[in-house]
Amino acid sequence: MEILVETIPTEISQEDNTHFLTVTGAEEHNLKNISVKIPRNQMTVITGLSGSGKSSLAFDTIFSEGQRRYLDSLSSYAKQFIGSIERPKVERISGLSPVISIDQKTTNRNPRSTVGTTTELYDFIRLLFARLGEAYSYNTGERMVRYTEEQIIDNLVQRYQNQSIAILAPLVRGRKGHYRELFQDLSKRGYLKVRIDGEITEIVPKLQVDRYKIHDIELVVDRIKVEDKDLQRIRSSVQTALDFGKDLIFIQNLKTEKIEVFSKSLICPTTGISYEEPSPNTFSFNSPYGYCPTCKGLGVEEKADVAKIISDREISIADGGIVAIGKYKKNNTFNYLQKLLAVEKDKLETPIEKLSEKSIKTILYGNGSDEKAPFKFEGIATQIERSYHDEISDTLKNWAANYISEYPCETCHGQRLRKESLHFKINGKNVADVTAMDLYEFYDWVLSLDTYFTGNDTIIARDILKELKERTHFLLEVGLGYLSLKRATGSLSGGESQRIRLATVRFSIKRYHLYFRRAEYRFASAR
Ligand SMILES: [Zn+2]
Repeated sequence: MEILVETIPTEISQEDNTHFLTVTGAEEHNLKNISVKIPRNQMTVITGLSGSGKSSLAFDTIFSEGQRRYLDSLSSYAKQFIGSIERPKVERISGLSPVISIDQKTTNRNPRSTVGTTTELYDFIRLLFARLGEAYSYNTGERMVRYTEEQIIDNLVQRYQNQSIAILAPLVRGRKGHYRELFQDLSKRGYLKVRIDGEITEIVPKLQVDRYKIHDIELVVDRIKVEDKDLQRIRSSVQTALDFGKDLIFIQNLKTEKIEVFSKSLICPTTGISYEEPSPNTFSFNSPYGYCPTCKGLGVEEKADVAKIISDREISIADGGIVAIGKYKKNNTFNYLQKLLAVEKDKLETPIEKLSEKSIKTILYGNGSDEKAPFKFEGIATQIERSYHDEISDTLKNWAANYISEYPCETCHGQRLRKESLHFKINGKNVADVTAMDLYEFYDWVLSLDTYFTGNDTIIARDILKELKERTHFLLEVGLGYLSLKRATGSLSGGESQRIRLATVRFSIKRYHLYFRRAEYRFASAR
C-alpha cells in the first residue's frame, strides 16, 4: 500500500492535532502496524493494490473509531438502544473529527428504488398528500366532498324544507344474492319498507330477490315531510341511517324521485363513488394500498415482444421465421400451426410477410375467442407470457425471457399508483406530477406551498415543508437539480448515486441527533 503522507508520529503535539489526523499502529485485518499522518481539510487519496488494506485503514479503522467515539459520547440511557461498537485494532488515533462514510457500492438495482425513495423526500411527499391532499372524483373530476353529521342535517333541512323525503340507508351495492335473512332481520327490528333496485317495497314474510341477479338495496329508515317541528325526528333518523349505511346516506325527494347522496367519508357528489381516508400508504407504489393493481407499482408490464418472436418476416415459419420455436420439426406445435394456417389457405412454407393478418394473429395470440375452432391453440406470444410470469420452471422462464420486453403499464401509464391515489392534488398537482418535476421545479413548488395553505393546514404543513425544503436544497447544492424524484436509482451514474447517498447519510445523522436528544430529554423529565 502506498501512503502519500509522512509516516512518523512518536510524539503528537496539540499543533499536530489541529492540522493532522494521526493513526498509530493500525493492525486491523491485514494491516501490519501501519502509522500515518493525514493532513486535515484537504483531499487525501489512499491508493494501492487490491488487498493491500486500503479499506481496512479508511473504513475499518478511521471510520469505525470515529463512529465508536460518537456513540461513546452519548448518555448511557441512549447507548442502551444501540449497543456498542468494538474498538478497532489500533494503538492510537488523534486529531479525529466526526466521520461520515459513503460506501463504495455503486448502485441499487432494485427497480422500485427511486431518487425520491432513496433520499426519503418521497416519504415526506406521501405524508403531505395524506394529510393535506384534496380529493377529486375520477369519474367527473369534481372535488370530492365529506360531511359531518351536523352538516348533513343542516343541508337536508335547508334544501328540502316542506318537501316529502325518504331517508335511505344503502345496505347492498351491486351484489348478487337472495338476501332473505337480511329482510327477515330488518323486519324483526321493526322496519317496514326497503328500496330494491329503485322500487320502494313492503317487507313481507319470506321476501327475497333473484339470487343470480345484481341488486341495490336500501333500508327506508323514515319517510317524512321536512318541517322545523320535526327536527328531532329527522336528526335521529339521519343518525340511524348513517349507522346502517356505514357513514353513507341517500335522501330521496319523493315527488321527483331524485336521489341525493351524503357521506361522512370522501365521495363524488354526482356519482357517489367514495374513497377511503388517505394514509401515507395510499401514495406508496410499494404498498398494496397504493400501487397500481395491474403492474403492482412497477410502472411497466413485461409482455411478449412480437419483434423478438418474429425477427425476419421474409422467412417462412418452416425455415425458422418464428425464432421462439425454431425451424420445422415433427411435433405438436408445428402440426397445430399447419392446421391453423390451412384455415386461411396459408402454408408453413409461406414467408411470414405473405401470411394473412388473421393467421399471424392466431399464431401469436391463439384462437380462444373463436367458438367454432376445431381445437384450442393458446398462441405463442400468450404462452411466452404465461411461461415467464408463472415461474413453473426455470428452463421455461429463461426461454420465455428472450422474447419479453418492458412496456409502460396501460392502466397507470407508468405513474405506478392506483387511480384513486392519483386523484389527490395539492395546488393543482398530483403525486405523479410532483415526482416528474426536476428538483429545481420541485423546490419552487414546495416554496409556493408556504403561501398556499390557510388556517389550520398551515400548521399541519409547516414541519413537512421545512423538511422538504432542507433536503431538496441540499440536493441542489450538490448539483443534482436536473434529476427528478421518479428517476430510478439503478439508472444513476456512480457520482450521482454517491451524492444521493451523501444527502441521505447527512439527514439520517441529523435524525439520530434529534432522536437521542429527545430520548435524553424524556429520561431527564421522567426523573
Ligand atoms: Zn400500472
